[in-house]
Amino acid sequence: MLEKIIESVNLARLVERHDLLAKCTTESSLGVNRQALSLEDINARKLLIQWAEMIDMQAFTDAASNLFLRYEGKFPDLPPVIAGSHIDSQPTGGKYDGVFGVLSALEVAESFHKNQFKPDHSFEVVCWMNEEGSRFAPGMMGSSVFSGYKSLNDIIDIVDDDGFSIASGIEYVRSALPSVPIREFGFPIKCYLEPHIEQAPFLERADVVIGAVKGMQGKKTFAVTVTGRADHVGTVPLSERDDALLCATQIMHQLYSAVINDDEDVKFTIGKLIVEPNAPSVVPSKVTFSIDLRHPRQSSLDHYESLIIAVISKYSSKKSVKLTPLVDDPVIEFPTELISSIIFAAKELGISSTTILSLAGHDSKFLHKITPTGMIFIPCSEGISHNPAEAVHPDHLFDGTRVLCHTLYHQLQLSR
Ligand SMILES: [Zn+2]
Repeated sequence: MLEKIIESVNLARLVERHDLLAKCTTESSLGVNRQALSLEDINARKLLIQWAEMIDMQAFTDAASNLFLRYEGKFPDLPPVIAGSHIDSQPTGGKYDGVFGVLSALEVAESFHKNQFKPDHSFEVVCWMNEEGSRFAPGMMGSSVFSGYKSLNDIIDIVDDDGFSIASGIEYVRSALPSVPIREFGFPIKCYLEPHIEQAPFLERADVVIGAVKGMQGKKTFAVTVTGRADHVGTVPLSERDDALLCATQIMHQLYSAVINDDEDVKFTIGKLIVEPNAPSVVPSKVTFSIDLRHPRQSSLDHYESLIIAVISKYSSKKSVKLTPLVDDPVIEFPTELISSIIFAAKELGISSTTILSLAGHDSKFLHKITPTGMIFIPCSEGISHNPAEAVHPDHLFDGTRVLCHTLYHQLQLSR
């Protein structure tokens, strides 16, 4: 049966549907501009629901406007297996980011339907609301609420640049699709799979088609504030100044020296610097700068954090220097069982594969908190994404979908 189902994966339909969804965009956009909870988002949802209903799937939503398309299994009370991603885009988005996850999952349901295959568990295709966070910040909103990491109240008052709120956006989508039933958040899920374009060039460079994602690098961010004293730059001798920028540059230099070494996995960035009063003739009185630290191993992430703290505390004993922690996202390691089953699927189908790290954030980050989660990466041309030039070879769309199909098939069956 599995062989027949995989043979039914239809590349022409998959390619055509990527093209059709790409037309749900604002008129002026060169690529795809489909912001969360917009008219374009509604149009894309309508298309997906129409395709799903043609194969007897039923659409559901929840109070955070996540969209689920359910293919009922033999035992409807068992927790469903879910696969998908998101359909919102950056303002300069392409055809594949997020959409590939949704359409490959829908294509698997098409293959099931064509072969009249009813899995033991039900299968659901999901589109998480506002993954990109470009209209409403931050991103991964729908998945963070669904997983219980945030509450609905945490997000509904967030507004876009025009003052339009998430609450109004959810209502807008709801009124356009009034017949879609609303379900509760966080119902039990057997496992979650998210196919996605890599958004980095490593699979392409290695000439490998499937990346079974090991996990996501952890991230810590900080703000450093150095306070000095404003003075006249023509009258006050250097020895008598309390120059906040001079001190900040010394700290930055020491931070770079402490953190940069031959560890290629560490990412350390000082990307934002605010100098006050930022005037050519005034000694800087205050400097605030950002630190963004990322690493795929938790022990290393913690180690580099301790180096940063050591540098800052060396200065803070003498000067007015303050380190404020902002974000602390731990390293995520996906379950080895799912990683192995993705690698196994690729091997069975004669498709090259490797394990890989996700350098970007995805909804899987939040699903991982509530259910076994895995990600399947396929290459995108030169690693380019968030750009109208985003491109994926059709063979890779096909292979990624077949690997998903194989992996899902096994997850959807009760072990007998
Ligand atoms: Zn994405």
